Amino acid sequence: MATDLKRFSEMVRESSRIVIFTGAGISTESGIPDFRSPGGLWEKHRPIDFSEFLQSEEARRESWRRKFAMESVLSKAKPNKGHKAIFSLYDRGKVTAVVTQNIDGLHQSSGIADKDVIEVHGNTTYAKCLKCQTRISLDVVREVFSNNETLPDCGQCGGIVKTATISFGQAMPVEEMQRADAAAQAAELFIAIGSSLVVYPAAEIPLVAKQAGARLIILNREPTPLDDFADLVVLGEIGETLDFVTKL
Ligand code: NAD
Repeated sequence: MATDLKRFSEMVRESSRIVIFTGAGISTESGIPDFRSPGGLWEKHRPIDFSEFLQSEEARRESWRRKFAMESVLSKAKPNKGHKAIFSLYDRGKVTAVVTQNIDGLHQSSGIADKDVIEVHGNTTYAKCLKCQTRISLDVVREVFSNNETLPDCGQCGGIVKTATISFGQAMPVEEMQRADAAAQAAELFIAIGSSLVVYPAAEIPLVAKQAGARLIILNREPTPLDDFADLVVLGEIGETLDFVTKL
């Protein structure tokens, strides 16, 4: 057995306060493309940043078009081996929190309680009014938008409606970032999985854990800029690696 996998499973076995941090890479095996890999979303679309979304009706239309085009993939996506392996550690009481940059809700679908998943970039499975924060179902938005691409507005206050995700240029959610910070500070072992670790401020969270005394493992198929800070870097595919190390 490769030494790094043996070390990975030992570190997991030795720890009872593990915090998991995931990026888009954990969901590629569920058929959801990540941003930066070949064939990833950035090869197809330039991201629409928050100020553009606010200022331009066409940008809002384009963003709803993209959202509904991705819906056939997202609505069918199921947790894969990687999500399931994390759930098995959680179910054994070893994982105290999952901090995720993902917006797909697959950790919750794998069985992890909502209260233990900290979504620092929001969630794309529903929409929200940007003014009064009312939650709005995507079915309602779809119905409005299907009428000649009419832009949805909030039934309560008339505000602009957007998926409940955090776009580039949009403020990070304060409560979630505080919870992520507290989870990182309390971690004994922090495992960053499937993230290029270049999107800030989310990429600071593994460093917060490390500086507070946690051991840090990074699992990704390619190197990341934080590898030098890690106690262990495992270069590999997420599903098979996690399945293997959590069953040892
Ligand atoms: P990223 O695209 O920048 O990085 C993903 C990393 O995962 C890459 O380094 C890639 O090599 C690696 N990877 C992909 N599949 C893998 C696999 N099967 N095994 C091992 N490694 C694999 O993603 P990021 O760091 O999460 O940052 C981008 C932003 O994209 C996040 O803010 C997130 O909100 C958003 N996003 C989310 C989803 C989703 O919810 N599933 C999908 C695309 C983008």
